[in-house]
Order: sequence, then structure tokens, then C-alpha cells
Amino acid sequence: MKFNTKAIHGGQHHEKVTGSVMPPVFQTSTFAQVSPGKPVGEYEYSRAANPTRTALEEALASIENGTRGLAFSSGLAATDSVLKLLKPGDEVIAMDDLYGGTYRMFSRIYSEFGIKFHFVDMTDLAALEALMNEKTKLVWVETPTNPLMKLADIEEVAKITKKYPNVIFAVDNTFATPYLQRPLDLGADIVMHSATKYLGGHSDVIAGALIVKDKELGEKLHFAQFATGGTLGPMDSYLVLRGIKTLHLRVQRHCENGQKVAEYLNAHPAVARVYYPGLESHPNHAIAAKQMKGGFGGMVSFTFVSGQKQDAVHFLEKVKVFTLAESLGGVESLANHPALMTHASIPAEKRAEVGITDDMVRLSVGVEDIEDLLQDLEQALR
Ligand SMILES: *Cc1c(COP(=O)(O)O)cnc(C)c1O
Repeated sequence: MKFNTKAIHGGQHHEKVTGSVMPPVFQTSTFAQVSPGKPVGEYEYSRAANPTRTALEEALASIENGTRGLAFSSGLAATDSVLKLLKPGDEVIAMDDLYGGTYRMFSRIYSEFGIKFHFVDMTDLAALEALMNEKTKLVWVETPTNPLMKLADIEEVAKITKKYPNVIFAVDNTFATPYLQRPLDLGADIVMHSATKYLGGHSDVIAGALIVKDKELGEKLHFAQFATGGTLGPMDSYLVLRGIKTLHLRVQRHCENGQKVAEYLNAHPAVARVYYPGLESHPNHAIAAKQMKGGFGGMVSFTFVSGQKQDAVHFLEKVKVFTLAESLGGVESLANHPALMTHASIPAEKRAEVGITDDMVRLSVGVEDIEDLLQDLEQALR
């Protein structure tokens, strides 16, 4: 099955009793049993499994070319279950430019549990290799990164991690989506999503996902989820499943609009630098062209010639079609100030070190008419 068909039909079937084409929202916590330990059907208690969540989990496995999908109550709950595979003394190597909440969980929760974190620029593969050792248990990559749009070469990182049999290689695929990039096919062990973003696609749900190829790893992650409880509810599962059915159509338009917005900003006299992997001037454009198939996504960051925070703030107060808000990946265009909003949990010196400046604006380019988006940017920049 091709991707566009999988987005709609992957792992799906009519509901058995009524033939309902969409899975019903099984809004129930528990399921009747005929005899102790013998449930009527396959389900017992919704923290372990719920049919609406199963329908979503099978769709997730299908679109990422995995064997098992798991749906969580948020992207961070999904990441949290991966970290629960580790023990004190283990080491993690993560990209230096990470989603702020991921960085906060690693540096403020799990480092207190005796796990050691190294943050490194994985566009430099030698730097990654130099940190790998027998204590390394997890390599965590986000690509493209947020908000600097740096890319790690997933295939090349996998070659390095495969030299160490006990290392799990996880990719946060939130920005690219499986429409553009399928990390499991490129050698990753786990794909993580904030399904809040492009998979849901309509800014109406907080959800997360993990997808794996290896059955045993899938069991371990399900155990962590079941034992600690970060599962997605039936209604939210339904919303994400509904979002996935138009993922290919939406991402196509996000890419078209994203490319045009990046090119427009790149030519604007008030703009200093545009961060978009689809621009040939992007330092990792070659990696993007190799591993992102069919476009470069809808996320665009930029800075001002003046270098002034005030210019970024004024711009964000002036946009009208773009909404000033955190989050991304919905049909509507959003604009954000990373240093004051999404990345405020990263200390200022650390932000400066990785290059998140105070005059940086991050755009999540939506699927509106491109003319309206460009006009809005024009008037706000003026
Ligand atoms: C939003 C986001 C997360 C966290 O997901 P939540 O659903 O907000 O918990 C993780 N990674 C990336 C890249 C994100 O954009």
C-alpha cells in the first residue's frame, strides 16, 4: 500500500457489529467479563487497551512502517515511557537543539535519577561518535530541530549506533511527519511524535505516539505505558485518527506554503537569516533533500537585520492571519517567539550557545491561501 492509501486505510477495518466505517469512540473505562479473568472480547481495562486507541495505534504503525504503535496522553508522556527503559548510570546522547520540554525532562527530571545526558550537535557525526561508550543506552535525535531547523542524517547516525548492540536510537519525527520522513526505514529503533502537531493537525488535541519495528521493544514500551499510565483517552484517540486521514494532503500544502514563505522572507530587506531546510543556502540542505521525500515541511524560523528583540516582539503583535501562539502543525498558521515562549525553559546562556537568539521568530505555516499569508507577513514586517 502506498502512503496516501495507508493514511486512510492502514490497519483499519469496519467495526464488526454495525459495520461503522469510522471506529466508534469507545468511551468506557472497563469491559465485562463472562468468568473471572475471561473478558467478553479482547479488552479488559482501558489503561491496558481500548478499541478506539487500538485503531489509532494500528494507523500509527502503518504510516511509520512499524509493527507496533502506542498512543500517549502527550508527546512528553511518550518520551517519558522511552526514558523509563533506562537505569541509573546509563548515558543518553541527545541533539543540542531540542524541543524545550524534552530538554527540561532530560535535564531536570531524569538527570536527578542518575542518568547522564550529553547534548551535542549531531550535524557533526564525529562529535556523536566521540561520546559513544559502553554506558550509552539511548541516542535521541530531533530532525529537523526546533526552532533552528538543523538536520541530523538519520542513516548515518544509525550506522554509528548499530555498532553498540545495547543502544536504542530514537527519532522525534514531529516536524517532518511520516509523509516526508520515515526514520524506522532509515535505521532508527523508535519513532516519537507529538501527535498534538501535524498528526492531529487541527490544534484540538494533546497527544503523543511511539512506533517501533521490533516486537520485544514494543512490549517493553507498552509495559512502561501500562504500568505508569500515560495513555490517550478514546475521544482524543478518535481525533488523532481522524487527523491522520488527511495528513498527506495537509503536509503537501504545508510544504508548498512553507517553501514560498521561506523564499519571501529570504528576499526581504528587514530579514537577516531564514532557517528552512528547503532553501539551497541551508547548511544541511543536502541531508534534507536525501531524507525528506516530497518537501521540507511547514516550519520556518527567521531573524531580523536589526538583531533587536523588540522588532520580533512588534512583528508578533502585528500579525493578523498568523496567530501568536505556542504549538505548531495545525491547519492554521501560528507565529511564536522561541526565547520568550516555547524555549523559555532553556536557560539563556544555553539558548545563546545553540543559536536561539532574542530576535528569532518561528512560524508554523498553515494551509491557508498563500497570498493572504504573504500579505500578512508584509504588513507586519512593514
Ligand atoms: C510539541 C513537541 C513535543 C512535546 O509534545 P506535547 O504533545 O506538547 O507533549 C515534543 N517534540 C516536539 C518536536 C514538539 O514540537
